[in-house]
Amino acid sequence: MEKRITKKELKKIVSDAYEHCKKIKEGNNAGYIPYLAKENSDLFALSLCFVDGDIINIGDYDYIFGIESISKVATALLIMKEYGCETVLNMIGADATGLPYNSIMAILLENDHPSTPLVNAGAIAAVSMVRPVGNKGQKWKSICDNINALCGSRSEFIEELYHSEALTNFNNRSIAWLLKNYNRIYDDPELSLDLYTKQCSLGVSTEQLSIFAATIANEGLNPKSGVRIFEARLSPKIISMIASVGFYEHSGDWLFSSGLPAKSGVSGGVMGVLPGLFGISAFAPPIDKAGNSVKAQAAIKYIMEKSGLNIFDSCSIRIDE
Ligand code: GLU
Repeated sequence: MEKRITKKELKKIVSDAYEHCKKIKEGNNAGYIPYLAKENSDLFALSLCFVDGDIINIGDYDYIFGIESISKVATALLIMKEYGCETVLNMIGADATGLPYNSIMAILLENDHPSTPLVNAGAIAAVSMVRPVGNKGQKWKSICDNINALCGSRSEFIEELYHSEALTNFNNRSIAWLLKNYNRIYDDPELSLDLYTKQCSLGVSTEQLSIFAATIANEGLNPKSGVRIFEARLSPKIISMIASVGFYEHSGDWLFSSGLPAKSGVSGGVMGVLPGLFGISAFAPPIDKAGNSVKAQAAIKYIMEKSGLNIFDSCSIRIDE
């Protein structure tokens, strides 16, 4: 059976999801980063960008929040562009750890085996690979240019978030040096850690993240700017990474219940990709114990369920004779 849904119907579902979820009170702001701990817990936004560039926005969709872990998706794409997928697979990997995003245990358990650019250890290693190795200024420019190109407009560096995180990131510092111990970091550990912390502190809106996600759904062609950001063959690669570890140790539960590969961040942002159709983004600061926004999860699940869309549903795929 082929499924059909109109933009108008989806717009209604997105607006119902917003109304349905805005009263949810569960979850707490990320407590370990002071800037995030004091962010307004009532902020709530939903954005959906179709692969033709049309956008549905609702709530605080132009509010600028820290991109946090969602930046890992951008930098994973950047190093796949710079080195090719096979090299990234060999130097970092694409395995879910099944453990929290900042797990040191995962590095100890898999010290001879790579993990994924979408958890802290792999993300710090990914930043270390960004070219030109050793040149902090050029690396930072390249990271920012890439995120801005994916979003179709400039991100804003949130200085206060960066300082807040840099003063408290002792766990990530341990990760960077442990990677060094196992020869799994490819630039200076302190330089890599600092650039990783800076990239997490870039501010974006849900509208920008929905365009980022729609660029992936649209095989690397940004539907808003019309600029090709990466080659089409990288889309399935990055979507597979997002699917396997986007919700950390709850990635399986998330995929099972939403049917949408999505990446979350501790600031309360979520960005999901439905290939060939749209990118979606939600933001609400209170998160669950794994670090995933409670309201954003509920709203996206609502939209997927009511629309009947699901990446694992092959009903509309045809094989011709
Ligand atoms: N900057 C955060 C950290 O390194 C990112 C974590 C996340 O968003 O999952 O702890």
